[in-house]
Amino acid sequence: AYTMNIPTLIKMENPLDFYPEELPGVKEALEKNDQAGAAEKIQEYLEKKDKIPLNIGITGESGAGKSTFINAFRGVDNRDEQAAPTGIVETTMEITQYPHPNYPNVLFWDLPGIGTTNFPADEYLKLVEFEKFDFFVIISDTRFRENDVKLAQEIQKMEKKFYFVRSKIDNDVNAEKRSQRDFSLEGSLGKIKENCIEGLETGGIKSPKVFLVSSFDLHLYDFPCLQKTLEKELPAHKRDALLFSMPNINMEIINKKKEAFQAQIKWYSVGSAAVAGVPIPWLSVGVDLTLMVKAVTDYEVGFGLNESSLERLSSTAGVPYDELCAVLQSPLAAEKITTDLILKVLSHFTGTTALMAAEEGSRFIPIFGLPVAMSLSFATTYRALSLFLNMLADDAQRVFKKALGLNPSVKGVSLEVCLRYGIFL
Ligand code: GDP
Repeated sequence: AYTMNIPTLIKMENPLDFYPEELPGVKEALEKNDQAGAAEKIQEYLEKKDKIPLNIGITGESGAGKSTFINAFRGVDNRDEQAAPTGIVETTMEITQYPHPNYPNVLFWDLPGIGTTNFPADEYLKLVEFEKFDFFVIISDTRFRENDVKLAQEIQKMEKKFYFVRSKIDNDVNAEKRSQRDFSLEGSLGKIKENCIEGLETGGIKSPKVFLVSSFDLHLYDFPCLQKTLEKELPAHKRDALLFSMPNINMEIINKKKEAFQAQIKWYSVGSAAVAGVPIPWLSVGVDLTLMVKAVTDYEVGFGLNESSLERLSSTAGVPYDELCAVLQSPLAAEKITTDLILKVLSHFTGTTALMAAEEGSRFIPIFGLPVAMSLSFATTYRALSLFLNMLADDAQRVFKKALGLNPSVKGVSLEVCLRYGIFL
């Protein structure tokens, strides 16, 4: 059975203490006692948030590792039928888009290398319709060449962002390990990066951002750093789209996802309270369970704990599906989230927990002047969603450790590397 001391874990927010600019109209509607109006605004916001597009253009010469990078980013195995085909020599100006399997609004565009097309950089960008991209990743498996520089310069002119990814770093590391007696990981990586930066600077790119990546081990080397850079440089409204579509490469990502979901709980709670629905059996407050189902489904998918994500992880990490599922402790992971399931899980938290939720809820009444039923619904939804979020985040950590611990390519990585790259085996 799942036990958790809820009151110590969950610090409730003031339901009216929102940033008005974040969601205009909700506070005003609530103050006017227009609950339906508030709920409608929240619903609109939640729907819009799910549809924010993110277009990532991946370019580089044939064989540089674009498809493999796209597949790894999306958590798709190269052998999967949704995978971008790898190891195929391109000769045409063929552009293929690969949606993220869980977030179809996040699109990866496999763009041919500029050298393949023989178009000058400006024409190339026009042809690929550069306007639609949020940023470009220029991939090379060697040092960056003249074409990469030209393209970067043109992208810069168009005021778009670009990042250089030096791929297949695992190959370099292995080769150096074999050839050098006093091999130092830091030293080897430093040299490769320096070499790339030098080439780009000579070509006229100021302070180029180069990331050393192995698509077979995204948690190693510079991919986590690329993730942080993207997060910092993307406009705020696009950040969650990127974050949720990121594979769980380390504990930090899992925690960031949790924080982002936590920040949304107030909206779900107000929305759920405003449209009082089914009463929770042990506490006769009405909450909108369909909204709760949506929130919990979002958590499950965001943490990669839905069945199809776990299946994909099983295949990319080489860990049997059943073994991944064996570490799950919450009754929500790997299950289809339904109102029945939510009610079943909630009914486990009876007695003191339920009362505390009610008590906590009633404390809102004099403070915010919300109708009693609404305060109780708010408090109940808030507590329930926080609890579900904690459960699923914990499961995500367990699955992450399991997948990594048994991944054969990670075995043999030294403790030093694990510490440096934040891997917890
Ligand atoms: P694309 O033509 O740019 O899409 O390149 P692919 O993704 O098809 O990759 C070309 C070859 O490089 C394939 O055989 C991949 O398996 C291999 N490859 C790609 N990325 C990596 C990597 O990070 N490490 C290693 N060792 N091989 C890679």
